[in-house]
Amino acid sequence: MKGVCGMINLRKPFFIIQKHKASHLHYDFRLYVNGVLKSWALPKGPTLNPNLKRLAISTEDHLLSYANFEGIIPHHHYGGGIVLMWDQGPYKNITFKNGQNISMKEALQEGHILFQLKGQKLKGNFILQRLQEEKWLLIKKQDEYASQADILNEFPASVISHKTIEDFE
Ligand code: MN
Repeated sequence: MKGVCGMINLRKPFFIIQKHKASHLHYDFRLYVNGVLKSWALPKGPTLNPNLKRLAISTEDHLLSYANFEGIIPHHHYGGGIVLMWDQGPYKNITFKNGQNISMKEALQEGHILFQLKGQKLKGNFILQRLQEEKWLLIKKQDEYASQADILNEFPASVISHKTIEDFE
């Protein structure tokens, strides 16, 4: 695969969102947990609007080596297409159960994860809530970063190369 690399600090938990134009344009949300990238596909992308719950379909864990990938992927690999690093940054797990902080592993098993993102585009608190099997919802919590802005259209480009999907076509 051809691609460029961004800078990711592996000593801290981090998230990435890759904008992926395959047969359909979607966004792949990935959280680094215990050495792998836990992954969800967001058919409608992320939002900062707490009133818009976004479907998040859990997909296969991705290898850490994919975390800084951007570029054109072959058809036989992860659905093919064009991938942009739409956002990245540290995250913090702030999930509670019975008044206690629980690990990401436990939160994933519970199907309820509360976390804080410090990306360039996505900031503040979010919830991933499992509905059934692979179906989850990604929901922005009401906080100082909540916004009704159309972030997908206002900020279409990569945060590492500043390229757009069209630049690869
Ligand atoms: Mn994808």
